[in-house]
Amino acid sequence: MRVFSLLTGLFFLSFFCESQTLPLSYKSAGSAYFAKATAEVKKDSSYLIKTKNAFTSVVIKIPFTQDFKKAYLLISNDTVRLHGDSHSDADTLLGSQLIVMPQPIQELRFYSGGVEGKLEFHFFTATSLSPVKKKENTYRLNAVCEEPTSVPQSIWRAGLPDPIGTPVATPVKFVIVHHSAGSNLASNYQEEVRNIYLLHTESNGYDDIGYNFLVAPNGVIYKGRDGRGVVAQDNVRGAHMCNKNDSTFAICMLGNFNEQLPTTAALQSLYALAAWKMQKENVDVNGLLVHSVGPTSANAGSKLLPQLAGHRDGCTPRYTECPGDLLYEILPQVRDSVAKMRQTCMVTHLEDIASVSKTFLYLNQTLLPVSGEEYKAVVVNDVLGRTLFEGIFQPEMSISLEGKHFFKPSKRGKGEQILRIVAF
Ligand SMILES: [Zn+2]
Repeated sequence: MRVFSLLTGLFFLSFFCESQTLPLSYKSAGSAYFAKATAEVKKDSSYLIKTKNAFTSVVIKIPFTQDFKKAYLLISNDTVRLHGDSHSDADTLLGSQLIVMPQPIQELRFYSGGVEGKLEFHFFTATSLSPVKKKENTYRLNAVCEEPTSVPQSIWRAGLPDPIGTPVATPVKFVIVHHSAGSNLASNYQEEVRNIYLLHTESNGYDDIGYNFLVAPNGVIYKGRDGRGVVAQDNVRGAHMCNKNDSTFAICMLGNFNEQLPTTAALQSLYALAAWKMQKENVDVNGLLVHSVGPTSANAGSKLLPQLAGHRDGCTPRYTECPGDLLYEILPQVRDSVAKMRQTCMVTHLEDIASVSKTFLYLNQTLLPVSGEEYKAVVVNDVLGRTLFEGIFQPEMSISLEGKHFFKPSKRGKGEQILRIVAF
């Protein structure tokens, strides 16, 4: 008996050091694309996780009272450290980042670190599509300040369930920058987008993917939430801003930017998307506007928010790391680059008025197929978007400004047309 228990003990010791298989308790309500399971874990323990079906990505959820410090996954030979990634206001548990596998798998190893008790595992299965690398080349930027070309949802979502519900329109006053918080090692970006879609629709309970656009490290842009013929695609209200999504437009940069920056190609696509949308909506790249602070449960009221902001700017402190520390730190440079790109696109259609200190401003009838009387006001901005002059429009008016000036009409909605002049 004594020998038996000693042997049993040794067996368990060696098995434990290897990894013990974690019994998963599956919840019903799963689908071909999503399975939810719970399991009890101990601290500082190593587990082998085997699933019923192959999966392409996973999120682990723990109580909000704990954190993921020291917890990691072993996928093939890669160690993927886990961290909290709150993107859903409805969460009662703290979710990890979405971890997308290099290929569909049925087992992985999990080290619990400081995590203990009952956890949830959300497994997603995005039936794999062949990569669209060749096609993707046609989805690169083709014009400055026009809508950049992007991969439509009908292509990247092929084979996955349709969105549900009815899209809601929102006027855009803020461009919000996110990161997906996933791995920077991923190379099949379309698979990343497909798994994010499943996370948002199957696990978070959103009607559709939460973001308006997603940008891959190779610069390819994916259209996000679909207007489905009901709402213009770039005015669909998303689900991304700690449940305060009105007036926002979300761009998600694929990758984790806590410790590295997005690629130059990805940043160029971000600038182009933001410049096009902010130009179209007449949103000041360096502007500030009041916006509600989320999540709803925090009752945090509202605050002045940059009109080109990071996700964390609109939430209570430490609610989310998004868009990652390093990308967040360079947002002032992102604003400069977007403002400069916007200037460039304005200049391509503009009339050089004068380069003297006192300038007569007038509407150029050959350039503008509208009458001057439609303009109620004049705004003069410099290249950084700062307002130099604002006044009631007169057909011929004199403004004292240093330097060279360009102008372009810009419409703000019925009865509020404004002549916008940009000063260099
Ligand atoms: Zn975010």
